[in-house]
Amino acid sequence: MINYKVVRSSRRQLSSSISITPESGVVVSVPPWVSLSAIEKMVQAKADWIRKTLARIGAYPRPDAKQYTDGEKHLYFGEEYPLAVIPATGIATPRLQFLYNRFEAKVPAHHPPHKQRKGLEEAVLHWYLDNGQRIITEKVNFFTKLLNISYNRIVLKKVSSIWGSCSRKNNLNFNRKLIMAPHKVVDYVVIHEVCHLVHHHHRQSFWDLVKSLDPDYKAHIRWLKANHHLLTI
Ligand SMILES: [Zn+2]
Repeated sequence: MINYKVVRSSRRQLSSSISITPESGVVVSVPPWVSLSAIEKMVQAKADWIRKTLARIGAYPRPDAKQYTDGEKHLYFGEEYPLAVIPATGIATPRLQFLYNRFEAKVPAHHPPHKQRKGLEEAVLHWYLDNGQRIITEKVNFFTKLLNISYNRIVLKKVSSIWGSCSRKNNLNFNRKLIMAPHKVVDYVVIHEVCHLVHHHHRQSFWDLVKSLDPDYKAHIRWLKANHHLLTI
């Protein structure tokens, strides 16, 4: 049996269509005069495609957007920590601290809920950027010293599809979400980009150098492919 939602469209739309998204599931859009039995026939005729698509989406569900509410879990180096939201007086902007087993956020008590949430979202993002910059810089310094090479600068960016990149000017760019992944995976991404300071390509000599610093690099690439959808700010 396939669960689906029927949307009756305006009279001007003459054709029927089926769409599937992680947010809405299966939606059948039909003109107003199409009968329920005709809709059911339509769904059955497309059953194989619908099941396949649902399975594909089900394997990689898009996690719900963060709400920044009290008790919500946030990832930091592969571990989830709860966010404690504490309304406080005498502050104009949220204050966020990481206290080893939880994030503690003091929010201005006089702000309405939507403003508290928006402010907290920005505070969390800044926290990830500040800590990411500090820790990724430490890791880059460690591996560049090991290889006795230098780089220009490190930038954390909002990018959706890549984890890191190395420019011709030897600038190292990293995804700002990277520090949500476990340390070993972060190390792999850092190693990958640091190795590009030596080899600006993906030929065997490059992968040999990566492997010399991270013998498990293939497992870490697999981890990123399988878990990237969990890393949300
Ligand atoms: Zn590369």
